[in-house]
Amino acid sequence: MQIKRLRLAGFKSFVDPADLAIEPGLTGVVGPNGCGKSNLLEALRWTMGENSAKSLRGAGMEDVIFAGTATRPPRDFAEVSILTEVDGDETEVVRRIERGAGSAYRIDGRDVRAKDVALLFADSATGAHSPALVSQNRIGAIIAAKPTDRRAMLEEAAGIAGLHVRRRDAEAKLRATEANLLRLDEVIADQD
Ligand code: ATP
Repeated sequence: MQIKRLRLAGFKSFVDPADLAIEPGLTGVVGPNGCGKSNLLEALRWTMGENSAKSLRGAGMEDVIFAGTATRPPRDFAEVSILTEVDGDETEVVRRIERGAGSAYRIDGRDVRAKDVALLFADSATGAHSPALVSQNRIGAIIAAKPTDRRAMLEEAAGIAGLHVRRRDAEAKLRATEANLLRLDEVIADQD
């Protein structure tokens, strides 16, 4: 999946509508401290379904709405749109939140559930919790993590975390089968 465009309005420091074309290849975002670089990554994660206010550096979900400055009044809503492309097909995903009214999602103009958006991104091996999206505090967490925790993060990134679940299931089945075989041996021995 390629993300081709990010459009923000009223999201955090992006009070005025902002349109960012993301060209193929490596994209760098540069700017002075506090200019909103991290807010762009948070806009992506929020639109993909992030619902933890803490991981969006806020106290409540409405904290993503522009809160106002000394010169500008607060906004009543925030809206972010992501334009994606998979195999030449473009899809637009929009999330909007209004003060006191919660948030809603649209895919290509249709109202959808949060689950539909999560599935759309999961099918393309990405999403709000994808290891591909690394925020600043996460870098610190990876460096400070215990080796076993760091390995879990790397395994998640490599897409093999699911294999451990299957391995545990297979080992449980193996133990059950071994117990059955023992029991069978006992039954056969009794009949001799
Ligand atoms: P750094 O380089 O220091 O990490 P940055 O470029 O990543 O900075 P961000 O952390 O993305 O910057 O942006 C922080 C700015 O966004 C702060 O100025 C903060 O006041 C502003 N901000 C965050 N939430 C809101 C909000 N709801 N309304 C208005 N401004 C907000």
